[in-house]
Amino acid sequence: MTMRALVTGGAGFIGSHLVDKLVAEGYDVVALDDLSTGRYRNIRHLLDNNHFEFVTASVLDAPRVDAEVARADVVYHLAAAVGVQLIVDRPLQSLITNIKGTENVLDAAQKHRKKIMLTSTSEIYGKSQNGPFKEDDDRLLGSPRKLRWSYSTSKAVDEILAFVYYKELGLPTIVVRLFNTIGPRQVGQYGMVVPRFITQALHGEPLRVYGDGRQSRSFTSVFDVVAAMVRTMEVPEAEGEVFNVASHEEIAIRELAELVIQRTGSPSSITYVPFEEVYGESFEDMSRRAADTTKLERFTGFRCETTLPDTVDEMIKYARESLRNP
Ligand code: UDP
Repeated sequence: MTMRALVTGGAGFIGSHLVDKLVAEGYDVVALDDLSTGRYRNIRHLLDNNHFEFVTASVLDAPRVDAEVARADVVYHLAAAVGVQLIVDRPLQSLITNIKGTENVLDAAQKHRKKIMLTSTSEIYGKSQNGPFKEDDDRLLGSPRKLRWSYSTSKAVDEILAFVYYKELGLPTIVVRLFNTIGPRQVGQYGMVVPRFITQALHGEPLRVYGDGRQSRSFTSVFDVVAAMVRTMEVPEAEGEVFNVASHEEIAIRELAELVIQRTGSPSSITYVPFEEVYGESFEDMSRRAADTTKLERFTGFRCETTLPDTVDEMIKYARESLRNP
């Protein structure tokens, strides 16, 4: 019998790639998305596919969430406020979506006893200078009055809910912590650096590096991320666990800017912009964020192997096509 998967946030950047992967693997897929940051164009290519259905609704619409969870065999919960810029610009709505939305989806999963995966974030680790981070490492957060840390806390609440539903009620939940996922369909509007640099490079504008550009990240291909998610859901021992999902490469943001200029062949220069100018006074950036992914490998045998230049090339191709057909 065909399995039916519900993907909340299914029209978003990562959600839509997950939908593609699940359809390719033979699932019937329902994508639920309120199109706030998700985009119709991300799932348009699936609209004629009998194995795909699109529902325009918010995860804050509890009755609708309940009905869709009831019809599904497995649930992937990705709907969330994402992107540092969005969280800084609209903190209240972001927190409500991340906490109340997750509560609704978990409540429904519990009521109908459906296995569920929650997507969390490397923001969980906060500003700790240590790393590569292991799943059980301590978190180091600043004041909850700084929006970055309130966002981190909101995602921690989601993780705790998932864990407690598992521990206390036996609901099969899995949490994945994603680290700077990138790929085609990602937009720069909400703060993500790679699509921003690509757009700037394709327009011949200076690439705006925040701070001194020495801060580093582990950019991870979305194709690896969705493959890891589907694989992990198929491993019974993964229930009740949390997994880092990330690439093993690390790159400083100024080197990333150079890479984008080189791969686009752009005449753009690089300019350095102080953090306060972009995010205001109450913002803190972290200097490094790298993952230890031995747990994911141990449970699933999966490693994120796609290289950064390959992913950047795919994103440049997508951005060029989008410029031609907006
Ligand atoms: N960044 C940048 N220019 C931009 C957007 C981001 O230099 O236009 C920097 C940002 O300060 C951070 C890194 O790039 O150090 C990654 O930023 P992003 O918002 O993509 O992810 P996160 O901060 O959540 O890791």
